[in-house]
Amino acid sequence: MKETKHINTDPLRIREILAKSLEMQVLDLTEVSALLALEDSSLWFEVFDTARRVKEKVYGKRIVLFAPLYLSNECTNDCLYCGFRTGNSDARRKTLTVDEAVQEASLLAGRGYKRLLLVTSEHAKLAGIEYIEKVVDAIYSSTDIRILHANTAPMNVEDFRRLKGAGIGVYQCFQETYHIPTYRFMHPKGAKADYAWRLGVMDRAVEAGFEDIGMGVLLGLYDWRWETGALIAHCKRLINKYGFGPHTLSVPRLQPAQGSMVHNLHYNVSDDDIKKIVAIYRLALPYTGVVISTREPAGLRDKLLSIGASQISAGSKTSPWGYVEGGDTEQFETGDKRSLEEIIGKIVSLGYMPSLCTACYREGRSGEKFRHLAETKAIKAFCNENALLSLKEYIEDCASGDVKDQLMKMLDKEINKSTNGLAEKFRLIEQGKRDIHV
Ligand code: SF4
Repeated sequence: MKETKHINTDPLRIREILAKSLEMQVLDLTEVSALLALEDSSLWFEVFDTARRVKEKVYGKRIVLFAPLYLSNECTNDCLYCGFRTGNSDARRKTLTVDEAVQEASLLAGRGYKRLLLVTSEHAKLAGIEYIEKVVDAIYSSTDIRILHANTAPMNVEDFRRLKGAGIGVYQCFQETYHIPTYRFMHPKGAKADYAWRLGVMDRAVEAGFEDIGMGVLLGLYDWRWETGALIAHCKRLINKYGFGPHTLSVPRLQPAQGSMVHNLHYNVSDDDIKKIVAIYRLALPYTGVVISTREPAGLRDKLLSIGASQISAGSKTSPWGYVEGGDTEQFETGDKRSLEEIIGKIVSLGYMPSLCTACYREGRSGEKFRHLAETKAIKAFCNENALLSLKEYIEDCASGDVKDQLMKMLDKEINKSTNGLAEKFRLIEQGKRDIHV
């Protein structure tokens, strides 16, 4: 990033950019470059605070919770950083049967999760579209999970249509790195070696009908400033072409993994850098959800909630059969080992509102409709009430001890503020009614 010395990072310029974000406008790439080049630490405090304000304008205090469900670690690719890579001869391989996937999902539903992200390694025969369709159908028909998202191998348009038709909400796929020489080095084998096939994945998903797509880069493979700018450029290209960008941006950082071939890279991404990246995503694309991976340590994840993050995974296992039996080879090491209940308690103690809500998917408020509601700020009204309703269910079905007390106190305060019959809806939930939402 030697060119950064030519970029205007004057405080006046930075404050103009922040004001534009506060008006909920998407930043252009020169504005993103100015934020990426900013070095003045006192101005960074203003940037972080503005990111928090932008996030709260769109989402209020709400933090959405979910868990990944790994279906398979059998992979035909050899991504050098990944525990699932084909060259990791120490890996213990497993693809869940449909019945096992249902058992994992049921266990998670019993802990209070309503939203899961299905994750598969890339193996067309073992974890292709037919297998995924069966898993999705079985989980929806025999568990209390209400929405499934998917992080799978890039597909062709026809398979994406089937994935969407199966009932997947968000399709997620990360480019890993936009830097072509790094990409080629890191992905020497298998379908993933084809940079262009992966780069075009979101175009094919959108063509197949997905309006909710999740994107990201694996931070630490190459210069994070370059990657962050490249990802935002990719998002802006999608916005220009289709009229909408990603539903979510994830912030995964390279972590140790069994059998990883990646050591001593020169592209370290510090905790401070992660904070900057989260803030820049939030400011550049104000309506986009920012998802914090379970790779990160608990303390950092907590801080990121006040910088612009809107979703976090909780209680995650990154191996197939990880919830029922602990699993074997993980894709990467997790940094935050807290359970869903512990994370819910922490979010409340920080003044935020945990949410297990899936109402927008049940009411068809996804894609363009969701964005329109977010832009008119109407979404905040829905989300707040739905988050409270989801927490009331959680209190009735799962919560215990101090966390239950914390939640009950929070809901009591909210009932007093509500003019929308919240108390009556809570009573219905106490009587056993479920999935009440607006
Ligand atoms: S990153 Fe994905 S594609 Fe690459 S080896 Fe791991 S599971 Fe396979």
